Amino acid sequence: MNQQEQQRLTELDKQLLWHPYTSMSHPTPHFLVERAAGCEFHLADGRTLIDGMSSWWSVIHGYSHPAINQALHQQIDDFSHVMFGGLTHKPAIELGEKLVAMTPPSLTRVFFSDSGSVSVEVALKMAIQYWHSQGQPNKQHFATPRSGYHGDTFAAMSVCDPVNGMHSMFNQALTPQCFVSPPPTGIDTPLDPNYLKEIRETFAEHHEHLAGFIIEPVVQNAGGMRFYNPAYLDEIRALCDEFNILLIFDEIATGFGRTGKLFATEHSNIEPDIMCVGKALTGGYITLAATITNDRVALGISDQGGVFMHGPTFMGNALACTAANASLDLVQSYDIETKVAQIQVWLESALSPCLDLDLVRDVRCLGAIGVVELSHPVDLHKIQPLFVEKGVWIRPFGRLIYLMPPYVIEQEQITKLGHAIQAVIQAHFA
Ligand SMILES: *Cc1c(COP(=O)(O)O)cnc(C)c1O
Repeated sequence: MNQQEQQRLTELDKQLLWHPYTSMSHPTPHFLVERAAGCEFHLADGRTLIDGMSSWWSVIHGYSHPAINQALHQQIDDFSHVMFGGLTHKPAIELGEKLVAMTPPSLTRVFFSDSGSVSVEVALKMAIQYWHSQGQPNKQHFATPRSGYHGDTFAAMSVCDPVNGMHSMFNQALTPQCFVSPPPTGIDTPLDPNYLKEIRETFAEHHEHLAGFIIEPVVQNAGGMRFYNPAYLDEIRALCDEFNILLIFDEIATGFGRTGKLFATEHSNIEPDIMCVGKALTGGYITLAATITNDRVALGISDQGGVFMHGPTFMGNALACTAANASLDLVQSYDIETKVAQIQVWLESALSPCLDLDLVRDVRCLGAIGVVELSHPVDLHKIQPLFVEKGVWIRPFGRLIYLMPPYVIEQEQITKLGHAIQAVIQAHFA
């Protein structure tokens, strides 16, 4: 693309388009992508960047994967979309079958929606409708730990961390929910009985109004990249059962291998009542999410002629389901635990030298997630161009610089990402 065209497009972008969490009057820079393949983007100005982000957890097999491309070409010639009310099709049915086979055995019923946030809305509605069907219409609120992130729509926002989620700005519009402390950090840190006591006391006080407890299993993602001991999940399951509260796992970020298991749930010994998946579901090709639940919830809602009150226009979109089927076939063709364990070793060796820098407070890795926590927040206006100059695509937030590369990344590329992080931390704070 010639320079004039690049300039024209970049200028229009700045004038017309809102990007995630940015200002229209003082936007951070946005780089024009022309092509992407494997673990690399090619910018319109000719530069090539190694991708450290999987485009926010989603592009797990790399960009322009031949198998997913081919499946989509085929489906587009058959049909791209038909309404899901009254009609069905093979891509959706096959995807349902795959999801039920992959997820914990008790999860048997699948609801497709357009995005992660919507799948969370659906999960919350399922919980409320379930209790309604059981003659408990007062159970319409949710308990959740602080530092969580569940999406940007209103009900999802109501269960996000109140500070990160800016609840003060929306205080008249958001349903007040019941917050507990975030699980103490450290994947191997012994359980803190006081933490479980806090949850027990909260449940004891509020259970008559609580439909569910929603949590990201093992890793709290956008709320701070916090890793916690999976044994808390076993204890929380028991408390939920004791107080008649449904357990909802948000696996939108952690699902499909990211934490070293196919689902983060598998680090524990229990199963949730409802699970949300999204992000990597289509290999990062097209937006699609699913809310998967057990017979108890699905049949409870459907008791005595009940129907579940949700039905998005693009529910079960055939192209999205086709991309997901091709992506899940790839996931199953890898030995995912071995592959992701290898990436964890590479991330640990690439990132641990950062600990020698004064501004680095912690380095932690779990599966294909590597986190460098700084003592000060970064300035995106300043740091983003520094990463691009180093030939890498890394997008920090706050005090966190983190990597979650596509699973097809090579050790040499992770080493380059690690070197870039060290150099950029020094340049940014110099
Ligand atoms: C990204 C994310 C969501 C929201 O998904 P969208 O597709 O962006 O709506 C919800 N929960 C978790 C844990 C996420 O990481």
